[in-house]
Amino acid sequence: MKDKCVLCGGTLKKKLVNYEIYGKSIGKFSALVCDSCGEQWFDEKTSKKIQEVEKKKGLFGLSVETKVSYSGNSLIIRVPKNLAEFMNIKKETRVTLYPENKDKICVMIK
Ligand SMILES: [Zn+2]
Repeated sequence: MKDKCVLCGGTLKKKLVNYEIYGKSIGKFSALVCDSCGEQWFDEKTSKKIQEVEKKKGLFGLSVETKVSYSGNSLIIRVPKNLAEFMNIKKETRVTLYPENKDKICVMIK
């Protein structure tokens, strides 16, 4: 079976790849890797396995939608508890905000 990469038409080869999320490696998983653009494709079973490991390590569901609200003249963006714990930020933690582009604000923790 020869698979082609849907992004660039390159040849896909089965490889064991190191899977990283939020800068943390969670192990090696079998993937089809494009020899041209490097894109990695996981089958459904492997994706489920990755999700299970993410859940176990508390890395699952850290990407969430949140609403902006008001406080005086400032806007407040709420950080959900699981994300705050993962980032180790608490009340009074000093952070620096800066725009990366028009769609993205970065929060740097000191
Ligand atoms: Zn490709």
